[in-house]
Parts: sequence; C-alpha cells; structure tokens
Amino acid sequence: MFNKLTLKDFDLKGKRVILRVDFNVPLNSNLQITNAKRIKAVLPTINYLIEQEAKIIIISHLGRPDGKVKPEFSLKPVAEKLGLMLKRPVILTADVGGTDTYKYVRTMLEGDIVMVENLRFDPGEEANDLEFANKIASLGDIFCNDAFATMHRSHASITRLPEILPSCVGLLVEKELNVLGNAIENPKRPFVVILGGAKVKDKISLISRLIDISDVILIGGAMCYTFLCAEGYNVGRSIVEKDKIELAKLLLEKAKKQNVKIVLPIDHVATGEFSFSAPATVVRSDNFPQALMGMDIGPRTVKLFKHYITKAKTVFWNGPMGVVEFQRFATGTNELLKAVANAKAYTIVGGGDTAKCVEQAKVQSKINFVSTGGGATLALMEGVGLPGLKAIKERF
Ligand code: AMP
Repeated sequence: MFNKLTLKDFDLKGKRVILRVDFNVPLNSNLQITNAKRIKAVLPTINYLIEQEAKIIIISHLGRPDGKVKPEFSLKPVAEKLGLMLKRPVILTADVGGTDTYKYVRTMLEGDIVMVENLRFDPGEEANDLEFANKIASLGDIFCNDAFATMHRSHASITRLPEILPSCVGLLVEKELNVLGNAIENPKRPFVVILGGAKVKDKISLISRLIDISDVILIGGAMCYTFLCAEGYNVGRSIVEKDKIELAKLLLEKAKKQNVKIVLPIDHVATGEFSFSAPATVVRSDNFPQALMGMDIGPRTVKLFKHYITKAKTVFWNGPMGVVEFQRFATGTNELLKAVANAKAYTIVGGGDTAKCVEQAKVQSKINFVSTGGGATLALMEGVGLPGLKAIKERF
C-alpha cells in the first residue's frame, strides 16, 4: 500500500524544506496549549531534518479563522512550545508568506527553524488557491507533508504544493499509513471492529468497507439504535435516523452474506431525558420502555463485547459507546477501553472522540496505535483515498 516518496529519498543538506504539519492543538481561554500530542508526534521528523542539516520552514493551520487574521488563532503558543521541546529557537513570522516571512527565510542557516503564521489567515488556503500555493512554494526547495490528520482535505498546502515542488511524506504520515494500511490489507484474524458515535449517516461507507475486511463488528453508541430498528426492535425515544433504517437493513444483509458478525447491544443504560443527572436504569433491547432513551451500552452488552475483544487478534475502534460527555454514561466506553488495553490483539484507535477517551482513561501506553487523524483515518479505512496522499508521487 505504501510506496510514496519519503524524506529518505531526498538529499536534504542545505535545502529549504517546507514541512506541512497539523499543529491544530487545543487552546484554553488563556491561549495555553492543553494537549501537545500533535506537536510531539512530529518531533521525529523535525529532528531528522535537523540531523540532515536542512533549513526547516514549518507551515500549519490552527482553528477556523476563516481567511482573516485573528490573533486568538496565532501559532505563537505553538512556536513557543516547539522551541521548548526542541531546545532551540523557533521563529514565528508575522505574516503568511509575505515580506516578514521572506526576511527570515532568506537568511536561514542549516538547522534553523522558521514557522509561518497560521495558513488559514489567508483565504487562499481553504480555497485551494494556486496563487497562494505559489507564494508559499517560493519559500522552499522541497515540500514534505507530515500532516496526517489534514490529508483528507483539498486545501492549497495539502494538494497544491506537491504540484509545484518536489514532494514527499514525513515520518508521521509514513508510520500512520504503514499501521493503518497493514490493518486494512493484512489484519491478523479475528479482526474485531468496535463502532460507536452519533450517526450512521456519517459512517455508511465506512461500515460497508469494514464488512469487507473484518470478521466481527460490535456496534454501540447512538448508531446502534438505527440498526436495532432495522432488526425490528422498539428502542423507545433513543436517537434513530429513520431515513437510514433501510440502509442499515442492507448493511446487515451484506454482513450476513459475507459471514461477518454484526453484534448489537442486548441491554442499555437509559434515561427519560438527555441530561447528566436524570435517573438511569438498565433496560433490555427486547423490552425497551417507550418513554426512555438509550445513553450507553448496558452491563450485559459490555460482557458480550468483551468476549469478542478478548478473542481478537486485531482490534480497530472508532466512536464512543455512549454519551461520554456525561460521566455516568461513560462506563460502557471505559470498560471496553480497559478490555482493549488488556487484549492480546494488535489494537488501533482512530478518531478524535475515541482518542480523547483513551487519554482520559490513561490507557495510551497500552494501545498499540492511537491514530492522530480522525477524518483522515476513517477516509483511509473507507478506501476513498486521501487527496493529500494522492498528490505525492510514488517511489517507483
Ligand atoms: P461521533 O462524532 O460520530 O464519533 O459521535 C460522538 C458522539 O456520539 C459523542 O458526542 C456522544 O455523546 C454521542 N453518542 C454516543 N452514544 C450516544 C447515545 N446513545 N445517544 C446520543 N448520543 C450518543
């Protein structure tokens, strides 16, 4: 699967390398970084470029400033944090490829690091504008994309820059593609998928593809109610996408034909209202009270899902099992996380919400691979291809 040009295919000494990263980190109201995982993930690439004596020009977006300069979306805290992590100066330019950027880029020495201010301060970035891409491309000799979490977007710095400059992927993208690619093409079996989250609508093609490559699919979260309806169950006032019930039926049929087991919850933690404090009761799928809505998978379902997780050789998980924002409905997700953390299988977690649950449960070190990209991971799993990856040339 992975045959793209990488940094190792280039002689980098003295070259100005434009490194696209995803430093879209969460900030608190004091503009302090609350989680630096995305910066840490790119350190191996930056250190490699330093070792190779390249001149490093870092480009990234942060938040959604909508093409306008908005100081609260400045990369300043990111440049400072990166400087501390690397123990070397990281200069942040005052503009996005303008005279201030040129001033610094022109005088760079080998190993120097310049970070260009937030790409999304310029409307050309999200508009996939060629002129904007040309302006950024003129800063460097080589383009390297290490922004895995952004590779599913057709933005100027992702798809246009590789049209203009000799280009490759960075070490993080290489790692993500190798792990996810291997799980897709060559998983150790049984391959068990855990799917949750809010909407079937967003995950139809993903589920269809997963039926092609996995052995067992455990479905929880709000999504399970549309599937339970498709199987003829009454689910009270739980969230159901009525217009997707027929599609859920087709997916269940497809799975049956392909001998893939789709396992739905047999019980639930349910409440009368969508609130963190409403009294909760455990109800069965075959006896769901009309007045209640499902907020989490129930204890018998946890046991059932754990049974499959224990037997798995590969596990891929996307989407929480319940309304994890309310502590009392996070039990199903946390219990399964523990099972995944202790599983013998090769375990992969992909998607922003699920990765956050992993962190909160402090089980990162026990999961083999937590993917940095939400949308990008799902796009790869779906097999729709990543525009940012397509734009990079094959090695041979
Ligand atoms: P997604 O972005 O599709 O991964 O969905 C994540 C969201 O699904 C979280 O915000 C959860 O609160 C929500 N969710 C999970 N289970 C349920 C449920 N039973 N009812 C309503 N929302 C749910």
